Amino acid sequence: MKPFEKPVFVTRPFLPPISDFCDGLEEIWDNKLLTNNGPLVQRLEKKLADFMGTKNITLFTNGTLALQLGLQGLDLSGEVITTPFSFVATTHVLYWNKLKPVFCDIEPNWFTIDPDRIEALINPWTTAILAVHVFGYPCHVEKLEKIAKKNKLMLIYDAAHAFGVRIDGKTIAHFGDLSMFSFHATKFFHTLEGGMLVFQKEMLKTKFNYLKNFGFKNETEVLMPGTNAKMNEMQALMGLLLLDYVDKMIEKRRKIFFAYRECLSNLPGICFSPELNALVHYNYAYVPIQIHADEFGMGRDDLYQSLKRFNIYARRYFYPLIPDFVPYRALSNSDPLLTARGVSERILTLPIYDDLSVDDVYRLCEIIAYIQKGKKVF
Ligand SMILES: *Cc1c(COP(=O)(O)O)cnc(C)c1O
Repeated sequence: MKPFEKPVFVTRPFLPPISDFCDGLEEIWDNKLLTNNGPLVQRLEKKLADFMGTKNITLFTNGTLALQLGLQGLDLSGEVITTPFSFVATTHVLYWNKLKPVFCDIEPNWFTIDPDRIEALINPWTTAILAVHVFGYPCHVEKLEKIAKKNKLMLIYDAAHAFGVRIDGKTIAHFGDLSMFSFHATKFFHTLEGGMLVFQKEMLKTKFNYLKNFGFKNETEVLMPGTNAKMNEMQALMGLLLLDYVDKMIEKRRKIFFAYRECLSNLPGICFSPELNALVHYNYAYVPIQIHADEFGMGRDDLYQSLKRFNIYARRYFYPLIPDFVPYRALSNSDPLLTARGVSERILTLPIYDDLSVDDVYRLCEIIAYIQKGKKVF
């Protein structure tokens, strides 16, 4: 079994034809406006507002600052119940808002926060739930909404992975008070780097726009301690070009996803998440599998290392868990996070990106089967 000639990474950015990008650059050169809510950012914001079905959106230079300022804009204090199974930025944004993260375990099928374990963690200091549509899998939005309403908590979603996801025709941002989308180059829809907030209350838009521009209301008035988190014109140009490809990209990813599923599901010890509810329009952003060492014959980490010998760079998203990182280790946690710990030890996300061919997926699966047969090349 030969390794891939070129490294196969977990993802590669989708890029539009370079000539289209150059045409856009000419427009930017003519405008001589590079940032500060330039014409392309305004155009992208309009298009994304149509795409999301709401005017209550605003764009940022990245997703982390979007969520950080989103929390600041909501004036939260005290404790926030959140998931340990996410990218570390989900918890960092709480830190930057002086909010205490309280980690709640995840449910075993789609790895999103377990609604049945939240209420035990609520106390008089709790002000919000920060949940993550991890891998683009929707959280239990209805259960979460009920819990939030009943306990008067804000419901905030890190939807960094969930661009394009819909439930019964509604965008995923229809749920909760606020959702953040990341447009980082590794996300399936990107603006080089970038981020977006989508929210329910119209009046928040002005505040978010102040916050991303140092708190300026106008030339002479600063109303709040904002920061610099504006999207620039090059980022917007990339977004404008890619938006036309979203449906095509999802369709290609769907093919890749099901090729993996077809090839790997008969290997013992490899587990995919169950099929999503038929009302969910999924974006196939990631291909997470779980390796059950006893059935598979080797552990997740051995498979991960062996794949590298074949020039395949899968990733262990998300391992370690956020509460195991140095800045969060000292937090006391009443939930033992048993499910999250188990998933984090078994999870592996496989390569998926637009120019990965289905034949390459078949070859990658053959390599996994080959490694499993004990012919790993350590
Ligand atoms: C990528 C990501 C972020 C951060 O977004 P950036 O645009 O890279 O700042 C936050 N949360 C999750 C779950 C992510 O995957």
